Amino acid sequence: MKTFLRQKFMLPLLCWVVVISVGLIIYQQNELIRQQQAVVIQQQEDMAFVKDHLEGIYMAARAENSRTYTIMDTIIRIFHYAKPHEGPTWNCPECEDIRKQSKEEEE
Ligand SMILES: [Zn+2]
Repeated sequence: MKTFLRQKFMLPLLCWVVVISVGLIIYQQNELIRQQQAVVIQQQEDMAFVKDHLEGIYMAARAENSRTYTIMDTIIRIFHYAKPHEGPTWNCPECEDIRKQSKEEEE
């Protein structure tokens, strides 16, 4: 009776479980592949946009970097006077300017 039940009921059930889980795995893989393709398409669109606007992006980045450089330079010069160093300090633009001025005066 037990063997009969197993053969009549359990084996087909196991077969269905295997079939359903394989189907689920295939579905998930297809979903992943679709998402990956969407990402790739989005990246291609972004690259096309960047290529179309390369000049503008480059000019904006250049202006931004130049502005940042000016701000940083000003901040360092302010610190040179607000919090004086003990001696001439490497990498301080104000110290370098003073050193250059004194050299010109010597000549
Ligand atoms: Zn300095």
